[in-house]
Amino acid sequence: MQKHDEKHIARDFWMRQGRQFVAIAIALFLVLFFAVVYKRQDLFGEFSRNILISAQLAVITAFIGFTAFNWRCPSCNKYLGKDINKRVCRHCRARLR
Ligand SMILES: [Zn+2]
Repeated sequence: MQKHDEKHIARDFWMRQGRQFVAIAIALFLVLFFAVVYKRQDLFGEFSRNILISAQLAVITAFIGFTAFNWRCPSCNKYLGKDINKRVCRHCRARLR
């Protein structure tokens, strides 16, 4: 990896990590929110069970799709795996931060 690319890779990775944290927060919030709506239909009104389960599945699918698009190495564009605090890409060995 060339020296002048390292800063760019670190900045790109930092943005991807930030987006990933935001996506995790939104997905968790929505899944929990739909679970609460399901449990407290007295508060939120009547929703059919199927609509709430479909909504949760839609959130999870969108999250997986977003992760597949976002959570990639800025250098080699391969999927980064489960560890969100990665330091080095295990595919191309680029330093991520
Ligand atoms: Zn890589």
